[in-house]
Amino acid sequence: MSLLDHTHNPAAQSWVASANAADTDFPLQNLPYGLFRRAGSNENARVGIAIGDQILDLHLAASAGRWSSAVQVLLQPLADGDLNSFMAQPAAQRRQVRHALFDALLAGSKQQSALTVALVPQAKAQMAVPCRIGDYTDFYTGIHHATTVGKLFRPDNPLLPNYKWVPIGYHGRSSSIGVSGSTVRRPLGQLMPPGAEAPVRAACKRLDHELELGLFVAGGNALGEPIPMAEADDHMFGVTLLNDWSARDMQGWEYQPLGPFLAKNFATTISPWIVSMDALEPFRSAFAHPASDPQPLPYLDSDKNRGEGAYEIELEVWLQTETMRVAGEPATRLMRSNFKHAYWTLAQMLTHHASNGCNLQPGDLLGTGTQSGPEANEGGSMLELSLGGKQSLTLPNGETRSFLADGDCISLRAYALKEGARRIGFGECSATIVPAPQL
Ligand code: CA
Repeated sequence: MSLLDHTHNPAAQSWVASANAADTDFPLQNLPYGLFRRAGSNENARVGIAIGDQILDLHLAASAGRWSSAVQVLLQPLADGDLNSFMAQPAAQRRQVRHALFDALLAGSKQQSALTVALVPQAKAQMAVPCRIGDYTDFYTGIHHATTVGKLFRPDNPLLPNYKWVPIGYHGRSSSIGVSGSTVRRPLGQLMPPGAEAPVRAACKRLDHELELGLFVAGGNALGEPIPMAEADDHMFGVTLLNDWSARDMQGWEYQPLGPFLAKNFATTISPWIVSMDALEPFRSAFAHPASDPQPLPYLDSDKNRGEGAYEIELEVWLQTETMRVAGEPATRLMRSNFKHAYWTLAQMLTHHASNGCNLQPGDLLGTGTQSGPEANEGGSMLELSLGGKQSLTLPNGETRSFLADGDCISLRAYALKEGARRIGFGECSATIVPAPQL
């Protein structure tokens, strides 16, 4: 059953004029959720939705607007700044709120005069991590990334045999997740210099980004009760950009036998706006493993997943060095890719995660793994673009990079485009690297 409805009509326009600009990330058809406070204020953080260059403050909108009694009840956790409680609601009720907000922001709505007071310019807001992230897991679904990186670490055995059977992942750390606009401190760690007999403790020399999406879990599951594929979509709330900062020299030394640890848990950056699954509905597409590959086991397979389990989302990484920033030069694009290349779908990640009875909770975050494209210049990390540091990239101003330098600002961007649908953007996921602490 298609969930496309009037909120996906590409011709629909808003009375918020900036939402009608062709290049806005946040048209009326998007309506992503975020957490903000007015810059310079110490008010409690509020849930808002992005609309053009504005935010609709749902604390104010819940009381200023006129809503049906059912919608008023659903708006209450949002008015209280508690996105997690809203995420826990069934999909049909979350969709009911989308419809109410869409109708209220639609050009010609009688709500315009009441809701104008609830608009806050995004330029005057300070964004926060949008919800309580109880647990964070990072998957590894980018097969081009896994193959290229596997070759660097294990030239004779790049893709381990389990890769095409089981969605690989590890448990990350939620305490160090920050929102776009923050800084990331270069970590200290154990490094094993080439040819050395013992490791040294030093600042990471091979600091890297990873281009990922993050799926926020909606309603969870009780401990011991798996989520079948047929119900996976209802447990998916929405998607952000995610940068899994990685210390490659620390990773190379510490990763065996248990996988990533301190090379990853010092920082993760996400974009502030969670784009709902409803907003992404027009961008679903067919999903299949190549016929020559193992086909998913039955618990990871469904007609719906094969028919429309993938999402076509354009992904980009941009770099602005400190030298470029001082000279007033814009960021340069390092690569582009598309989420359609992922080897496992969002539904398969979620279902697999709960398949042993592990209980997911509203607000849990599932990273997709680095989404590199099939071509060599489509690597979603410096590790891939520089072939493990062996070849450096030359930037437009003549600077070179094999890994990231202090002062570098990495920005991830994404948007969904399709004939017959309004372009949906994700905003930015940016952070600037600051020097390591003194030893
Ligand atoms: Ca990762």
